[in-house]
Amino acid sequence: MSSSVTASWRKRRMSRSVDLVVRDARLLLESGLVRGGIGVSDGVIVVIASDEHLPSGERVIEAGGKILMPGLIDGHAHIYDPDMKGHEDFTSGSRAAAAGGVTTIIDMPLVSQVASTKEADHKISEGLSKSIVDFSLNAGMLNSDNTPVIPLLIERGIAAFKAFMCEPFYANNGVITQAMSEVSEHGGHITLHAEDQGVLDEFAKEMEGEWDAPISHSLSRPNLAEQLAIGQAVRIAEKTGGHLHLAHVTTREGLHEVERAKLHGVTVSSEVCPHHLMFHRDEMNILGPKSKMNPPLRAKEDRAALWSAILRGVIDTAVSDHAPCPIEEKDEGSDDIRNAWSGVDGIQMILRVLLSEGINRGRLSYTRLLNIASRRPAKIFGIYPKKGVLQVGSDADFVIVDPTREEKITSEIMFSKCGWTLYDRRTMTGVPIMTFVRGVSVYESGSIQANPGHGEFLRMGGGGLNYEE
Ligand SMILES: [Zn+2]
Repeated sequence: MSSSVTASWRKRRMSRSVDLVVRDARLLLESGLVRGGIGVSDGVIVVIASDEHLPSGERVIEAGGKILMPGLIDGHAHIYDPDMKGHEDFTSGSRAAAAGGVTTIIDMPLVSQVASTKEADHKISEGLSKSIVDFSLNAGMLNSDNTPVIPLLIERGIAAFKAFMCEPFYANNGVITQAMSEVSEHGGHITLHAEDQGVLDEFAKEMEGEWDAPISHSLSRPNLAEQLAIGQAVRIAEKTGGHLHLAHVTTREGLHEVERAKLHGVTVSSEVCPHHLMFHRDEMNILGPKSKMNPPLRAKEDRAALWSAILRGVIDTAVSDHAPCPIEEKDEGSDDIRNAWSGVDGIQMILRVLLSEGINRGRLSYTRLLNIASRRPAKIFGIYPKKGVLQVGSDADFVIVDPTREEKITSEIMFSKCGWTLYDRRTMTGVPIMTFVRGVSVYESGSIQANPGHGEFLRMGGGGLNYEE
């Protein structure tokens, strides 16, 4: 190539300008961490390259060697319930999401059901006007009356359904079997809360007189309840050929059932929550009613098994199960843990826990982090490769992370409406610094950047609804 041709090529290349460039990052790609940066135009990644090959940008961020990874997709977060407005809403919940590096929320029903197109449309319009990150919905809870709505919701782009194998939304195995057939026919999946009600009933009786101790909540919901329910759920999935997604797996026994099902080729995927990776049940009497959630905190050995299951691919996704409440609803359980609200904050903590307790303690690799936080959930919800990957043509949803920065967690840094956190006063290592949704900054160094309404509703599908590796 002559020198004049080279010069004109260089000039052309240099004049190419994009909306945003992030340079000097460590990009978390499927192949691992790679030095370089990305260019973004019109909300989409248009180039991934080493620094010298990046175009100029209207805004240029020097990442200083920090990690740039796809934004998290939180597949299980109780963000907005029309009957529980004091708990969380799309504005506060999506701010907490942004501050935790979460760029897509898949809202989960809490007490109000999403079992009609009207209820779904209401949630969608609420999210469109209030959320600062992109979102979609899980529907449910499924029961014997509302299964006819399944095809109507799938037409709306909502192909994820929740059902309970225990109270308060108990559905029997017949309902679950029929619903799983119906959902899988349309290419969706069912998320099950898997605990056996009979076991819960009987073990609760044993705790009589001991409800003043918060740990009684955990002891009344033994590992066996999860093991039995997951075992049955797996058999239903095997029979129907449907896609079973297991919410918040917490026990060694439950993981064993999931692993065995996967080895037998059953279409099953699973979740883990940050609180089950961070805390254990012997801390409950110190943490008090704040540490009550379902399934409960487990023994240390179960916590260790969860980390190992992430590495082996038994766990597919990390989700928040974000369901905090006004503090008064926790205080009600001070003398009797049964009276406390079940649920805890989490959406701002998923990535922090995975970094601090996982990466920085050698329990997690970066490629597994990418998989459980972004890539697998995007595939499970049929929004891949629009979401969940750093790739040319994908939405520019990403988070810049400082994996070595220490941070003291306090309620002051939390964006949840509830104003408290289970993680209070813990010092953790690894902090999301900046979060972008479709190329727009939504969070930078402690402050929210985007206005309510930036979030878009995502239809599931298009990326291939059927779950695959
Ligand atoms: Zn939940």
